[in-house]
Amino acid sequence: MYEIAKILRDRGLKVTPQRMAIYSVLINTKSHPSAETIFKTLEPKNPTMSLATVYKTLESFKETGLVNEINLGDGFSRYDGITEFHPHVICTKCGNVIDAQLENINPLIENIENSTGFKIQKKQMFFYGICPECQKNL
Ligand code: ZN
Ligand code: MN
Repeated sequence: MYEIAKILRDRGLKVTPQRMAIYSVLINTKSHPSAETIFKTLEPKNPTMSLATVYKTLESFKETGLVNEINLGDGFSRYDGITEFHPHVICTKCGNVIDAQLENINPLIENIENSTGFKIQKKQMFFYGICPECQKNL
């Protein structure tokens, strides 16, 4: 917990028990939870926490670059504590969002910059398919 407090402080965020709890959920899961899911996870042990606090906290985390928001256009955002670039694969059956790995994206970025004249500053990459678990039930 001490380290989490430092990470928050380094981003200029006020350290509160609720913020530390929310950040700790995000760095200890690979499931890319929504605000509602984070709230439900923390609620039993943090009865004074509100969903609005979770939303507000996630917004401040996002603004300071502490977490990434994943918006799949399905009406609610998910959050990722891993801010280093990595592609995501999304199951079209169960909605799970899984981290994927891509060896070297530099050639791809160069390609895009050369063909558009853009200087790419931010990247998100999504692939859609059916996860191994859901393939069993096809
Ligand atoms: Zn699935
Ligand atoms: Mn991820």
